[in-house]
Amino acid sequence: MRPYILAESHWSEVRDRDYQLAVLPWGATEAHNYHLPYGTDNYETDALVHEAARLAWENGTGVVVLPTIPVGVNTGQQDIKLTLNLNPSTQHAILEDLTESLDNHGIDKLLVVNGHGGNDFKQILREVGRNFPSMWLVTCNWFQAEDKDALFENQGDHADEMETSLMLHIRPDLVLPLSEAGSGASRKFSIPALNEPWAWAERNWSRATADTGVGDPRKATAEKGRKYFEAVTALIADLMVELALTDMDDLYE
Ligand SMILES: [Zn+2]
Repeated sequence: MRPYILAESHWSEVRDRDYQLAVLPWGATEAHNYHLPYGTDNYETDALVHEAARLAWENGTGVVVLPTIPVGVNTGQQDIKLTLNLNPSTQHAILEDLTESLDNHGIDKLLVVNGHGGNDFKQILREVGRNFPSMWLVTCNWFQAEDKDALFENQGDHADEMETSLMLHIRPDLVLPLSEAGSGASRKFSIPALNEPWAWAERNWSRATADTGVGDPRKATAEKGRKYFEAVTALIADLMVELALTDMDDLYE
């Protein structure tokens, strides 16, 4: 039993415990090339958040991890069989209700740890925060926390070398042989600006990719995954500790 995981905790402990920070992991259920499972983002986000929370807890931080929300925004993948979608407005409703629960119980800090590129919680948290001015709402994307160039030869953003390495480290039993993986080749937009960070349009996934992956996964190893896992969990743990310790009236240097 891990005391920092709400789902494994009991009323007798929870009632008497002092929590400073709630953490909500949020993933997705979607196709991940041929070799990774649909739950990849959830397995990754669970494993990273649980380990980071363990490190923070051992540091004396009163952190509690809420159950992972396993479905994300996948509006551009609706023609890919059994890829599931929650609209941003549904995510807003979920965050509004969970924030209200935390607010009722006097836990005034929430960190949403995002593990899926289609999820974007910033605008939602701005709006939810207006209704709960005593709450401090924070989000982070774990996949942006660590520089991937140093560890991985081939870059991508979906079922790529990083994600495959991570899964080979945390759930190798769910990864099919890399000989079965597609190349992860993807097609860029024909309008150059849309391939730059300053302009954006949603990608139609089945037109932009051949095997649903973006990024060649075939140089992935469990060892690369272990190094990345350790680097990212250390960063998230630091963030958890600092969020928990920081006085909300003393947020600016
Ligand atoms: Zn993924």
